[in-house]
Amino acid sequence: AQPGMHSSLPFFFQGKTVIQAEIDAAAELIDFFRFNAKYAVELESSQPLSVPSSTNSMVYRGLEGFVAAVSPFNFTAIGGNLAGTPALMGNVVLWKPSDTALLSSFAVYRILLEAGLPPNVIQFVPADGPVFGDTVTSSEYFCGLNFTGSVPTFKRLWKQVSENLDRYRTFPRLAGECGGKNFHFVHSSADVPSVVNGTLRSAFEYSGQKCSACSRLYAPDSLWPQIKEKLLEEHGKIKVGDPAQDFGTFFSAVIDDKSFARIKKWLQHAKTSPNLSILAGGNCDDTVGYFIEPCIVESKDPKDPIMEEEIFGPVLTVFVYPEKQYKEILQLIDTTSPYGLTGAVFAQDKNVIQEARKLLRNAAGNFYINDKSTGAVVAQQPFGGSRASGTNDKPGSPHYLLRWTSPQAIKETHVPLRDWKYAYML
Ligand code: NAD
Repeated sequence: AQPGMHSSLPFFFQGKTVIQAEIDAAAELIDFFRFNAKYAVELESSQPLSVPSSTNSMVYRGLEGFVAAVSPFNFTAIGGNLAGTPALMGNVVLWKPSDTALLSSFAVYRILLEAGLPPNVIQFVPADGPVFGDTVTSSEYFCGLNFTGSVPTFKRLWKQVSENLDRYRTFPRLAGECGGKNFHFVHSSADVPSVVNGTLRSAFEYSGQKCSACSRLYAPDSLWPQIKEKLLEEHGKIKVGDPAQDFGTFFSAVIDDKSFARIKKWLQHAKTSPNLSILAGGNCDDTVGYFIEPCIVESKDPKDPIMEEEIFGPVLTVFVYPEKQYKEILQLIDTTSPYGLTGAVFAQDKNVIQEARKLLRNAAGNFYINDKSTGAVVAQQPFGGSRASGTNDKPGSPHYLLRWTSPQAIKETHVPLRDWKYAYML
């Protein structure tokens, strides 16, 4: 795999700045492990009613077979959680890390072993993706997939599972958290600095390689001149560079040559489409690393593919709407993209916030009010979306643990049956 950039520690950073790597690989992973342990203990004490005639209990068994955990490149914490949660709940796990995050994933695996995880409960399998997918889904012992990554990969695995359904000893659990086309909706009552700072942070932190990154901004014509001026001024201050060499860097390279080529095509589209104009950025250069400038595009067509599809790079598209038509715009946001991951509404008017909550109920699994669409914290904003964004199993919450257990209810009677007949028949 190609590292994101030619620095001394490319595989550790995965193109993140030091603080972003710290938040991910240390802070969030620790939160996952500690909260999951707490939730597991609480689940264990969640027991059915016992009555004088019977003692009832629930045993939270692991699934019968193995779980395949397949992780994406962009979050070290996610890989640890995808493998760690099923293991915590008593499962055997085959963990296939991303090709472009091997070293950090391996470090997490070794830390788990050092911390006392018995050998072979989690098997670390740095394999080719399709070969791994074919192999695990054709085993009769396959009983679960814990996946985070792109929609095409998840769909492919799901189809393979259905094709192999007759082989399995148990119906497999399929959990998949996928991409997003996350929105910031700005009402004319919004606080402009919150919009500008929240949008820049959300769209461009980690070079836009976050599933929750804001990639479409809907701004009212009344506020747009102010927003635009501030957005471009602040955009000019974004420091692009190698975070391993310069700790002041906010923004670095994208992960590999494939990502670079994909995003370059979108930049080409923005440059050539008559509906689109580039307001800032738009260049890229792979001579010293896969660098793409943070790019802001304005679209005259709210249904242009750039407003609908996930780019997974630093490209933000703005659609300016007539202030009075904000209700239509809320409908438009809901119906523009197949995804339903994250979204934000910026408004001081409480009635508008209520309207937006109602109209966008199914448009985002994580919904923010006057805050950016990124930055979910374990146990505070459990994460995940529906529609094409995945099965919304909410890692970072107690619900997630239930996916990886097959509970057994046990009744011990204290009143032996003395007659097969009902009492009224006696
Ligand atoms: P990807 O789909 O390319 O790869 C994900 C994993 O699947 C990798 O380990 C890859 O090697 C493996 N893989 C690829 N083909 C396979 C196959 N046929 N069988 C089995 N495994 C296969 O995704 P990526 O580029 O690593 O990650 C980016 C994507 O992940 C984006 O779409 C992003 O939005 C999404 N993501 C979602 C969340 C979330 O919580 N919703 C979090 C992080 C990333």
